[in-house]
Amino acid sequence: MSYCRRGWDGSDLYMFEHVDGFIECSGCAFDDPWIVVLNSVDEALDHVAKHRAARHGVPDGLEEQIAGENPWSRSEP
Ligand SMILES: [Zn+2]
Repeated sequence: MSYCRRGWDGSDLYMFEHVDGFIECSGCAFDDPWIVVLNSVDEALDHVAKHRAARHGVPDGLEEQIAGENPWSRSEP
């Protein structure tokens, strides 16, 4: 599932939950090759904060969405 896509709610970010169990910031403005792999909720939230600090378009409530639903909030079968 995706948390935000470029162009939705003024978002400059495209972040989604990868099937392999991490969150990806795809086409990230900060990094080359523009795909940032986030391996924990804290890492993901720090990353969103970095985008906010740079005044990139970050949809309201993105942090709550990530905190509420993420690959680490579910126990593995
Ligand atoms: Zn990013």
